[in-house]
Amino acid sequence: MKDSIRVIDSIQEMREYRSMIYETKNIGFVPTMGYLHEGHLSLVEQSNRESDITIVSIYVNPSQFGTNEDLLTYPRDIDRDLELLSKYDVDAVFYPSSEEMYPEGYSTWVEVDGLSNKFCGASRPGHFKGVTTIVSKLINIIRPLYIYMGEKDFQQIAVLKKMVEDLDYGLYIRPCPIVREKDGLAMSSRNAYLSPEERINALCLYEAQLMAKDMIYKGERDIHAIITKMNRHITSKGGKIDYIEFVEPDSLEIKKQLEDNIRVLMAAYIGSTRLIDNFEITV
Ligand code: AMP
Repeated sequence: MKDSIRVIDSIQEMREYRSMIYETKNIGFVPTMGYLHEGHLSLVEQSNRESDITIVSIYVNPSQFGTNEDLLTYPRDIDRDLELLSKYDVDAVFYPSSEEMYPEGYSTWVEVDGLSNKFCGASRPGHFKGVTTIVSKLINIIRPLYIYMGEKDFQQIAVLKKMVEDLDYGLYIRPCPIVREKDGLAMSSRNAYLSPEERINALCLYEAQLMAKDMIYKGERDIHAIITKMNRHITSKGGKIDYIEFVEPDSLEIKKQLEDNIRVLMAAYIGSTRLIDNFEITV
């Protein structure tokens, strides 16, 4: 528990702070875009359990938003975020501006081929290039041993694990389980966009998961039949499916046969809000 958190907004100050931490201390890092909820806070908690030092970043990264996306309307409330973080053992919050992260003339990008172009990457071209670039920069500035990330963004974890491996960053991505609202909706800063009616309909993503699990429990083994039923349910609640796919969790290769250790990834629009979710299947 901290009364006031150290907030650092410049890269130079962050580097100076980092250089004062003994090399023997494990640094846990939680990158976020702010407007924190219990999903984000569960990552902070996990870092508190495993790491000596916990650093959280709050930065709405423009390069991961497409031109017609919600960069300008993305919810922000730094005072509330700091208040929430003050209840945890957070050693520093990195809260840089875009002038700091992308100064004039900025021109270097990090991109993971293949994994970045499917599913969310297909619907949001350039999104993962923005994510991998900003996370690379944050890694270089903060030099953590562990990065805590939510399985809510399952593809993001797969892409970043590949980047960390390919570029020899020498750190560990720690995936943490999805935190849900009481009724099952996966927590997301973007849930704030939903009208009361959309909020009710948004539950269809979770309901579709329960349906899929129930079908499998009762012996259904045809992936196509399961997806069709999920699709139908979401559409009946006014949702517009972007994709539902059964995949291998690391390569994200699409599975044709139902077997253990499959992840089902899904994205759908409820009104104009794009929501993602996923779940694990055991047979
Ligand atoms: P964001 O602020 O949306 O960029 O998310 C920052 C981190 O919080 C990412 O690692 C997300 O996967 C994670 N996160 C977001 N929502 C949840 C959730 N409902 N449960 C667990 N982690 C989450």
